[in-house]
Amino acid sequence: MIRSPYECIIIGGGIAGLQAAIQLGRYQHRVLLLDGGKGRSTICRRYHNLMGWPEGISGEALLRSGRAQAEKLGIELAKDTVVMTQIRNGGFRVDTTAGAVYEAKRLLLATGVSDRLPADLDLKPCIGTSLYICPDCDGYEIRGKRTLVLGSGNAGASMALVLRYWTEEIIYINHERQELDAGMHEQLKQKGIAYMEEAVAAVDHTDGKMAGVRLSDGACIEADCGFIAFGRNKVQSDLAEQLGVKLMDNRHIIVDARTKMTSVSHVWAAGDVTVHSEQAAIAMGDGAQAAIWIHKSLIGS
Ligand SMILES: Cc1cc2nc3c(=O)[nH]c(=O)nc-3n(C[C@H](O)[C@H](O)[C@H](O)COP(=O)(O)OP(=O)(O)OC[C@H]3O[C@@H](n4cnc5c(N)ncnc54)[C@H](O)[C@@H]3O)c2cc1C
Repeated sequence: MIRSPYECIIIGGGIAGLQAAIQLGRYQHRVLLLDGGKGRSTICRRYHNLMGWPEGISGEALLRSGRAQAEKLGIELAKDTVVMTQIRNGGFRVDTTAGAVYEAKRLLLATGVSDRLPADLDLKPCIGTSLYICPDCDGYEIRGKRTLVLGSGNAGASMALVLRYWTEEIIYINHERQELDAGMHEQLKQKGIAYMEEAVAAVDHTDGKMAGVRLSDGACIEADCGFIAFGRNKVQSDLAEQLGVKLMDNRHIIVDARTKMTSVSHVWAAGDVTVHSEQAAIAMGDGAQAAIWIHKSLIGS
């Protein structure tokens, strides 16, 4: 059954989507937010760099509070994954895995990026508390500490080199034993970064505080904290592609810097799926800005 069109459908209820929903709710537009519930913000156990949260806040807590705030403003929230988007009757049709079909006058894509984490390792208990992903967010947390980089090939090596800004004691463990580019070994050596090619069997931790790792050959490597960099993260821009939205070669969505509208009229994008530094505060800013311009377009100003 096709229900009456929403003024806007937001696909993705992470940081960018929820901030946009709150802003659109305050304009009192009729908005549906569809979220599959598998965002980066659900796996980050602590954001340390957000203004107002000097002790940090978990992604879950931030999303819970964002959802409550959006609902209070009349935003409809549904836990469902969108599988198809189409341009229809001057607006958009959205189909979900639950079999629901919705229509909207405007569309906001806030579908984020999905991190490639190795299926054979349970990293989640430490993510955001002592095992980090983003040096711009959490390089500060490892300053002067013995740090392991768990990764794959060049992605892990590049991360180790970047982290040298914060600490001198780094060991890069190439878990997937992917070959490094010529010259990379020399660069690591020059920066005093130890290199090991061995699968990690388990991460040792107590209450999310990493103590080190056990390798598949039985060796134990102690550390205060770690970073992960396995490369090949997935930019979730497939829905944008279905609509003919222009993407960068790396599959991030290109948006207008001022309005956050994509190359397709009345389709906006915000957050990590677009081209920018992947940070929570930036995703929030994007979401708010997109919502302002969606509002302008709805009222014709
Ligand atoms: C481990 C980790 C630690 C981080 N630490 C920090 C930090 O300390 N500081 C910082 O500033 N940033 C940090 N980041 C980055 C930050 O989490 C992201 O920049 C932020 O979450 C981006 O928000 P977003 O809304 O674009 O994407 P997300 O928060 O990932 O939300 C995207 C949402 O879209 C939904 N979605 C995707 N496709 C569909 C679909 N087809 N249908 C329905 N829903 C869909 C997903 O389920 C998800 O809920 C970290 C990221 C990770 C992974």
